[in-house]
Amino acid sequence: MMGGEIVKKQKIHEKTSGRHYSAVVLLVAFCVLSALVFVGAWQARLELPPYVGKKLTRSETDEVIARNSPLASYVHLSPNADFPRKSEIKKITIHHMGANLTLERLGESFAKKDRKASSNYGIDINGKVAIYVEEENRSWASSNAENDDMAVTIEVANETIGGDWRVSDEAYETLIELCTDICWRNGIEELVYTGDTNGNLTIHNMFREDTECPGYYLESRMADIAEKVNKNLNSS
Ligand SMILES: [Zn+2]
Repeated sequence: MMGGEIVKKQKIHEKTSGRHYSAVVLLVAFCVLSALVFVGAWQARLELPPYVGKKLTRSETDEVIARNSPLASYVHLSPNADFPRKSEIKKITIHHMGANLTLERLGESFAKKDRKASSNYGIDINGKVAIYVEEENRSWASSNAENDDMAVTIEVANETIGGDWRVSDEAYETLIELCTDICWRNGIEELVYTGDTNGNLTIHNMFREDTECPGYYLESRMADIAEKVNKNLNSS
């Protein structure tokens, strides 16, 4: 073989292996980048927003209340929620606790991830209000994701357990005030109870047959709640 020919072949060989090297580097870079994007997305899914699942200071509590209903005095944010909700707020859904829990006890219950349940608000027997899921997020309350994406959900403490599942007059009055405030701040001009899911005032047993929630006492007063809320909205 002539000397010139060997040099030429060597040059071709160098050129080809140089290309291979670049391709391998590109492939490795692509893999690393993809892995980073994947890990980032996975972490974003697992990471809860700040203030969720932790004990808040007084100023952090006030900050959360300022973004939600000023009627609230207690905050314990539950991890059992979708952050943020997918729809704008158009509905309110009423629940009862099926018990007479303090706001703290209900907060502890909703803090347990394996319970997979929450509500935006809770009202105790004295008419005090708690925030468990901020309004901008979807609570896991009504056994219906579509409804909860549109609804602010409220749990009310029971004065009597079983039977007609009565709630206290204080809790009932607060419920009407809270519904008025939710409508007012979210631009809901009228609360309509149709007895089915077509109205914008809904109850848990519309979505789940095997629950009594919100109990006879509240269910029989839904039209009254809508009427009183609308009266408040018209006068304010
Ligand atoms: Zn319920």
